[in-house]
Amino acid sequence: MFRRPNLVRRTPFPDSVSRAVVTPLQPSVVYASPDPNALDDQYEGRAKGYTYGREGHPNADVLAQMIDRMEGGAGGIVTGSGMSAVTATILGLLSAGDHIVGGNQLYGRSLRMMTQDLPRWGITSTLADPTDLAAMEAAITPTTKLMLVEVVSNPTLRIADMEGLTRLARDRGLILVVDNTFTTPYGYPAFERGADVVIHSVTKLMAGHSDVTLGYVLARDPARRKAIYDTIVTLGLTPSPWDCWMAERGLYSFDMRHERSQANAAALAEAIAEHPAVSSVLYPGRADHPDHNRAGAVLDGQFGNMVTFCLKGGRDAAVALTRAAPQLPFAPTLGDIGTTLSHPASSSHRGLTPEKRAELGITEGMFRVSVGCEPVALLREDFTTALDAVSALG
Ligand SMILES: *Cc1c(COP(=O)(O)O)cnc(C)c1O
Repeated sequence: MFRRPNLVRRTPFPDSVSRAVVTPLQPSVVYASPDPNALDDQYEGRAKGYTYGREGHPNADVLAQMIDRMEGGAGGIVTGSGMSAVTATILGLLSAGDHIVGGNQLYGRSLRMMTQDLPRWGITSTLADPTDLAAMEAAITPTTKLMLVEVVSNPTLRIADMEGLTRLARDRGLILVVDNTFTTPYGYPAFERGADVVIHSVTKLMAGHSDVTLGYVLARDPARRKAIYDTIVTLGLTPSPWDCWMAERGLYSFDMRHERSQANAAALAEAIAEHPAVSSVLYPGRADHPDHNRAGAVLDGQFGNMVTFCLKGGRDAAVALTRAAPQLPFAPTLGDIGTTLSHPASSSHRGLTPEKRAELGITEGMFRVSVGCEPVALLREDFTTALDAVSALG
């Protein structure tokens, strides 16, 4: 009888004297060691090697090294999402009884974690306005250990007093954690400017194509890095090799996407400001932005790809705009290679009361645009058409 081959045994990967130019995708969860002594060497740091996927894998390390170079650091860790990077940082570095001072316009889920989830584990927080140094200082208590801020707020694009906050954190012995997702290291080199921990949602501008969910965390102090790493491995926040590979591919064009989308954003901000349907435009590069001067210093002229504008009308005007521009996805994200529209009142800030939204300056006619890399003339045309439809409402 025909003897069946052992199909379960893996076939050796072919040798080649020429090397693949593209980073190989390595989905293996397990790595075989030659013997127990070799495994000891690995675990005790005498030899470099992988063991088990949740503890790390080559595709995550390649991606981490690329983002490390952008931030000017070393030893960054890629996680399964931006939120897992926030989670691992807080749970890795803090204990019950500790207190956080956070910006009051942080990413919605970060705010939820601080106000609803962390208190169940004994970690409390106070939120304050990061554009107001005195307010942030006043929020510090004797148990404050960490300050979590974003450089540019969503959706009003206010600019945090990063110089003041960095000094304040250092003077008061607080761990300064900067979520640098909106700005990217090209808009604000957070690590270079003194952040103790830098976080990114790689999902957004870095990966740039809305097809992976990933995060990144970089810690200056090796003991803190280890605490964050162990939390990632224990809680299972490790990314998938495929997602890392995709994000790496996206990052090769980051430089060009950054330049193009930022130039488009500046041009779009000027173009829509002229339109009769628009009551105001918020863009840090415009002289009428409330933090324009600070943006010049903090962002060093890199004003970013986000533009917020308000229609003169309310919800009806907002509905007319999205319906007149089906080619501009109305989607709760940012950083895609194409332009996307977000309507904070119905998405990111829907959980707030209308009074609270008004306090933050969020109206029913407000849109936040994540400007992409389209030819700028097409972008102008799309917005003119959509805004004309709003004007036609009367
Ligand atoms: C999207 C976002 C996050 C969360 O990232 P995910 O990858 O969606 O988990 C955190 N911070 C900011 C500023 C974000 O925009």
